Amino acid sequence: MSETAIVKAGVCGKTTRITATPSDDMMSVSVRMESDCPMVSKVPVIENIACYEEVGTPFNESVIYKWASENIRHTACPVPCGIVKCVEAAAGLGLKKPVSIEWERGPVRLTGCDIMAELGFGLMRLPLKDPADQSSVDVPQLKEMVDMFLEAGLDYFDTAYMYHNNVSEKAIKEALVDRYPRDRYRIATKLPIMMIDSPEKAEAVFEEQLAKVGVDYFDNYLIHNICGEFYSNMEKCKAFDLVKRKKAEGKIKRIGFSFHDSPELLEKVLTEHPEMEFVQLQINYLDMDGPIASRKNLDVARAHGVPVIVMEPVKGGILANVPDEAKALFEARNPGMSPASWALRYVMGLDGIETVLSGMSSVEQMRDNLSFCVDFKPLDEEELAIVEKAAGIINGKVAISCTGCRYCMKDCPQDILIADYFALYNSEKANPPKGWSVPRMYYGNRSKGHGLASDCLECGNCEMNCPQGLPIIELLKDVAKTFEN
Ligand code: SF4
Ligand code: SF4
Repeated sequence: MSETAIVKAGVCGKTTRITATPSDDMMSVSVRMESDCPMVSKVPVIENIACYEEVGTPFNESVIYKWASENIRHTACPVPCGIVKCVEAAAGLGLKKPVSIEWERGPVRLTGCDIMAELGFGLMRLPLKDPADQSSVDVPQLKEMVDMFLEAGLDYFDTAYMYHNNVSEKAIKEALVDRYPRDRYRIATKLPIMMIDSPEKAEAVFEEQLAKVGVDYFDNYLIHNICGEFYSNMEKCKAFDLVKRKKAEGKIKRIGFSFHDSPELLEKVLTEHPEMEFVQLQINYLDMDGPIASRKNLDVARAHGVPVIVMEPVKGGILANVPDEAKALFEARNPGMSPASWALRYVMGLDGIETVLSGMSSVEQMRDNLSFCVDFKPLDEEELAIVEKAAGIINGKVAISCTGCRYCMKDCPQDILIADYFALYNSEKANPPKGWSVPRMYYGNRSKGHGLASDCLECGNCEMNCPQGLPIIELLKDVAKTFEN
């Protein structure tokens, strides 16, 4: 009797259906495979495997492993093992017991040793039903992305109170928490310190977050956006005391903070708060040595033995949509690999990184990200040199290095769509038009019902909230000059 086994290969997200059919005399078995993996599908049949010999033979004499050596590039692939199990079952030589490999999870504390980074799902740029409305999260599409991500063997989700006009936490409840058992995923969210002015408010916000996400505990909980501006406020509203207490109560597994400031301040925070178990830093190949100081901040974290979670590896999409010249460099070396794959592989290959968050906005982006995690390799020397060249090209073209985080927009009295206007300005400057331009048309459309760049009152609220330290007021004058005359 034929037997069928399904092998889900893990991080590559590929599934293989193996059917083993014995001969009438049960002395041999033929195997057929249907798979979405092109390597398996290349030669999807192995005929007449002598089953008694095969199940007792050493690896180097096995017909099945010979097939694997000729067709599959990775020794980690579980498909050959699945074929052997299926042959065993079809020949009546083995029981049909499920086989699995589970990962043991636990806090990672770096003591100078290096770990291999994994991909995390950042929930700050979710798919939208209406691109003009950040709160209109496309939950059906998000569900599909969540399913793909979990199916690929990944499980880390990073949200925050403020993301998507405060609806990201609710959206992930619907797309993930309400649909999967609690031990299937890890979730992180953040204390929105910029909205908090007392210990009582911090406590109330934390409890509200548990209810919004629909969980009893957070795996990681971060104090959001530590920077010079907010550090003294954190001490005043006892944010560090709150997270330690909630950890002791079992409502948080690990405590940490996200950080957007100088290596000197990071040094101070980690020295004053050795209880912090991880730090979330902005790291990407464009920001290593500029004002964001990714390299130095990473060095500080490593010197303290604190693992790093990376945010903005693609710099708010800037490194996914690189100028044509940079794209051509990437394409010449690795045809078909997206610019985003270069950006993610760059940070995943750095020492001391625990997780790299990618803010994926569509099923296609999820598919792309998962596709190069399958055979994740850090960039080699030649590729690193290409990235350096590309960084030079991109730096020469990006007029405003806004990541699109939208923190600047929440306290703007004129409701100016700062992030959107900067994105349009960047497109306009990357390919200067002769006359009419698409970004200019979008500017006209998007600004309806909102403040124009020229409506800025120069109150400075936005600049206080910008983690990139951008001179927004001055930049808006350039935007107005470009689009409003
Ligand atoms: S400075 Fe201008 S853009 Fe910034 S918050 Fe004030 S009015 Fe809005
Ligand atoms: S201007 Fe600054 S705060 Fe506003 S979206 Fe851009 S990076 Fe974020």
